[in-house]
Amino acid sequence: MTTGNKPRGYFASAFGCYCPRCREGKLFKNKVSANIRRNTDMYERCTVCGQPSEIEVGFYYGTGYVSYILAVMVSGATFVAWWLFIGFSFSDNRFIWWIVINAILLIGLQPWLMRLSRSLWISWFVRYDEHWKEQLPKDYERIVPGQMNNW
Ligand SMILES: [Zn+2]
Repeated sequence: MTTGNKPRGYFASAFGCYCPRCREGKLFKNKVSANIRRNTDMYERCTVCGQPSEIEVGFYYGTGYVSYILAVMVSGATFVAWWLFIGFSFSDNRFIWWIVINAILLIGLQPWLMRLSRSLWISWFVRYDEHWKEQLPKDYERIVPGQMNNW
């Protein structure tokens, strides 16, 4: 992806897991991984603009709800796709197959869904700042360092 003069759009930034303030720095240290600790290991501050990634105690606690909603949305999408292309019937096991395949898909997508829900979550609290180069991010006081990334 190029980083020209035009800033990333909201969706490109949120779905690509970029810092919501500058939309340049990456939120996560590692690539998507099945190792949960590695997968959700975030930079304490954005490496580009200095925005803290954890702006209050237990900040990412709410992402459980976001990933739940994302999982429901994925299931809804696979349900519709299955209905259109394969169909459902009471006389065979097609419904069971959809449940099984959807469950496998959700488990496979889980590392990515966890990251996406964190990225979306922080993007709802930290606004894009077009002057991020000139001014520092505001400081957040409600941080307990010992509790960081502990959720
Ligand atoms: Zn940033």
